[in-house]
Amino acid sequence: MVASATADARTKHKSARAVASTVTTTDDSFECDTCGTVVPFEEARRSETMGNLDPKKWQTLCCPECGNRLKTVFVGGE
Ligand SMILES: [Zn+2]
Repeated sequence: MVASATADARTKHKSARAVASTVTTTDDSFECDTCGTVVPFEEARRSETMGNLDPKKWQTLCCPECGNRLKTVFVGGE
């Protein structure tokens, strides 16, 4: 039983790391579906996310050309 519990813990740890690796970096850029502009992370407009996400941790990036929502990104980090 002990061995089984250890395997479970390892699986959970692994999936947590997989999530962390998807965090958006400031080197990313996003192509706007509406107008085709490629928007570097630094130039995207920021707005608060919809819903109950913490605005200190999540931001919505918007196209500076047309205002289309590009992506919701995690900017928090512990
Ligand atoms: Zn656009």
